[in-house]
Amino acid sequence: ARQMGGLPEAVRRKVEEHPCYSEQAHHYFARMHAAVAPACNIQCNYCNRKYDCANESRPGVVSEVLTPEQAVQRTLAVGAAIPQMSVLGIAGPGDPLANRERTFATFRLLAEKAPDIKLCVSTNGLALPECVDELSQHAIEHVTITINCVDPDIGAKIYPWIFWQHRRVRGRAAAEILIAQQQKGLEMLVARGILVKVNSVLIPGVNDGHLEEVSRIVKAKGAFLHNVMPLIAAPEHGTFYGLTGQRGPTAAELKAVQDACAGDMTMMRHCRQCRADAVGLLGEDRGAEFTLEKVAAME
Ligand code: SF4
Ligand code: SF4
Repeated sequence: ARQMGGLPEAVRRKVEEHPCYSEQAHHYFARMHAAVAPACNIQCNYCNRKYDCANESRPGVVSEVLTPEQAVQRTLAVGAAIPQMSVLGIAGPGDPLANRERTFATFRLLAEKAPDIKLCVSTNGLALPECVDELSQHAIEHVTITINCVDPDIGAKIYPWIFWQHRRVRGRAAAEILIAQQQKGLEMLVARGILVKVNSVLIPGVNDGHLEEVSRIVKAKGAFLHNVMPLIAAPEHGTFYGLTGQRGPTAAELKAVQDACAGDMTMMRHCRQCRADAVGLLGEDRGAEFTLEKVAAME
């Protein structure tokens, strides 16, 4: 397919079968997100913590947090009802690697009960380097890292603080650590043959002129997709945490940055920023059919 040009064959095959990465596959393969990860280890200015993480999911909705056992029960129920079910992702509602016991327990249980389901995880990257060994043991095929900048001065406008080695670090120093961890994690994953997608949240006036450089760097390090997503700054979702009045990009601004970042790199433009507990084919969300109560009643 046109958009897959330039990728090695093994990578291309994985991508073509993944509902989120391939425009073709998302009609035939279903995915679900399991919301097992409530905590987060950083603060993004665009997150107000009442809602799902914006790394991989739509901010402004609240997902029901499940235990690993409940998540596996729900996955099995979905798998029985939706035959195309092929990918389980952990994307929130906080950062999956800031909740690594819960995230890895879910992967372990699932590998026992449904070994054919592919696993993926998304993260802000802060805890990524120390998790790479365990991720490779769980045969995680895809990791998404949200990288909004590679410049700590820009990062200081996006991240007011991180929680690092048992203390809170603020400002530019925080952004510097986060950026270094993200880049290190990306390199370690690529070295182990784990597919890496990079998401960036386009924040007008903050990182719009900078994402082209982010794209160039992550591509050079081996990320197979760079996905530029719009900041969703609707008032009902809470304003930009640190900067009231921050707006999201217009459709034209989003397209201009996506075009500038495209180069010869595969871009994903159909990501729907699904809820952290989304279920079904991309573009549909059948999550409401599989609440805990309903899953229990199915047994
Ligand atoms: Fe919120 Fe996600 Fe950022 Fe954590 S990483 S602060 S959950 S948007
Ligand atoms: Fe796929 Fe939705 Fe996740 Fe985007 S948010 S990668 S479309 S499941």
